[in-house]
Amino acid sequence: MDVHFTEAQPTDAEREAVDALLGPPTSGWEGAPRTLGDGHVALGGHGARSRRDQLLPALHAVSDGVGWISEGAINYICRRLTIPPADAYGVASFYALFSTTPRAPFVLHVCDDIACMAAGASELCAQLEKDVGLPGQPKQNGMATWLRSPCLGLCDRAPAALLLGAAHPPGSPGPPRAAFAPIDAAQVRGFFDASSKLLPRYYPPKTEGSDVRLLRRVGHINPKSFDDYHAAGGFSALRRAIELGPAGIIREVTESKLVGRGGAAFPTGRKWDAVAREPERPHYLVCNADESEPGTFKDRVLMEDDPFALVEAMTIAAIAGGCEHGYIYIRGEYPLAAQRLANAIEQARRHSMLGDDILERGIRFDIELRRGAGAYICGEETALFNSIEGFRGEPRNKPPFPVQKGLFGKPTIVNNVETLVNVLDIVLHGGKAYAATGTGDSTGTKLFCVSGHAAKPGLYEVPFGTTLRALIDLAGGVRDGKRLQTVLLGGAAGAFVTPDELDVPLTFEGVRAVNATLGSGVVIVFDETTDLKAILLRIAAFFRDESCGQCVPCRVGTVRQQELLQRLASAKPHGSMDVERALLAQIGQVMRDASICGLGQTASSAIESALAKFNLFSGASPR
Ligand code: SF4
Repeated sequence: MDVHFTEAQPTDAEREAVDALLGPPTSGWEGAPRTLGDGHVALGGHGARSRRDQLLPALHAVSDGVGWISEGAINYICRRLTIPPADAYGVASFYALFSTTPRAPFVLHVCDDIACMAAGASELCAQLEKDVGLPGQPKQNGMATWLRSPCLGLCDRAPAALLLGAAHPPGSPGPPRAAFAPIDAAQVRGFFDASSKLLPRYYPPKTEGSDVRLLRRVGHINPKSFDDYHAAGGFSALRRAIELGPAGIIREVTESKLVGRGGAAFPTGRKWDAVAREPERPHYLVCNADESEPGTFKDRVLMEDDPFALVEAMTIAAIAGGCEHGYIYIRGEYPLAAQRLANAIEQARRHSMLGDDILERGIRFDIELRRGAGAYICGEETALFNSIEGFRGEPRNKPPFPVQKGLFGKPTIVNNVETLVNVLDIVLHGGKAYAATGTGDSTGTKLFCVSGHAAKPGLYEVPFGTTLRALIDLAGGVRDGKRLQTVLLGGAAGAFVTPDELDVPLTFEGVRAVNATLGSGVVIVFDETTDLKAILLRIAAFFRDESCGQCVPCRVGTVRQQELLQRLASAKPHGSMDVERALLAQIGQVMRDASICGLGQTASSAIESALAKFNLFSGASPR
């Protein structure tokens, strides 16, 4: 891709897809025929450039319409938004769900990540390679293909697959987007030899808990119905929040001691207060719904089955922080959640719960939904800002922090879905009442995503302080009466816990005793039959693939880490196994100390914890 425009032109379908999003070009700056007036219009090229944040939606529009993003399509988007083509190519090629080379319009993404591995994903993928062909090979006369995928957030129904496709023929209504879980090789074979249709499967989420609050509406109301949500007490927290006013909301949230549920555990009240105090305007609110940590699916369940709750909670956060515009950045692998949220936002607008005059109280706030396109790193808050703004999703250096300079360089509140939904009860019942649940430093309840070899995988809500043993018992223990080998707590960026450590209380402070972290609430159970080395190799491959490549310690370290593990796993060390293990530890230390963001800083955590707690990679003879 040249830094200058090439001669490549868009097809009619590509042009139509972009124009449907951006509207037809209106001046020579945007690719319409040039006129004498173009140089003198009020905004000129600046007007087009100010829409740079439309780059990701425009790339989605082409990909949804045609299946891949051609040079001609990039040229056209770049003329419309006044972006150098090489710059836009850098963005398009950053995301795993986009292809800048011709690709079949229907793509089946088959998860081969750790939770699905526990359900046989490695064997499934090997079978597909034999029966259907290698990933990426076109099948069905070039109409369909399959790819291996990192976690799809369907771990409770593993093994999982997701069909994402382009509208075909171009211009037909709506591209196919559907999850299939659990899936087996026969179903996939039937789809690829066109002998049977893949029928989307939707199962009600398996949710349970010893103290159900956040999940109380899940499965009990129609998530598409405003009236159902309203009848279940919906929007009463918003009315109470309006009575409290910004300072009152922040006081209650601060008293609740609510901390972020995405992994960083930062006090929510302090964050909101800092943004509310910033004199610079406008303020933005961003809901981080880019839930991509392997093993995590809690936010998906909330968004699919209680989407109005998120809309209401965001409106309360916006009132507290003085934000008039909010974004939900949802991962591209969650089509059903995106659809349900779009419906909830639309209905909330119609009922004056969003818009210019919320509940006729003169409050202005609205929400825009933005889809990610397959990049784990965009769950990092500053990478997420860059992604919304139309740049590669690479993290920024901090400080400045988002509360001072966040989205578009303005003060920004960024919280994940679970954190925000907690605010409804805090506002309704008061911060002190909320803080009475849980422990002194970890208040409230927590959602845990239990998967792997648990007898009843699903989403569980328990008060902080519940032990890991009690949680696993709630999920039926280890399936088929097998012996527990280990639990991965906190996801790929978390740590392994041994059977002797199950009495650890699940609190932010408690899990430190076993050198673990709660992360985003991942609990993957592995029984005695699990090949732990294969799990570690998959984790290493995951971080190598997902490193954004911006800083050397992570870009090089994640590759070296994977190479070292491969040598150890195949018992072909360079030197002795001890030397290789020491080198692995050094690489981990460098990534921890010198990486820009959390991805590099935690890329070795799970691997190092497994090496410290289990007798792996010993006894092999040097090469
Ligand atoms: Fe990118 Fe990794 Fe550096 Fe984070 S640590 S900025 S993911 S290269």
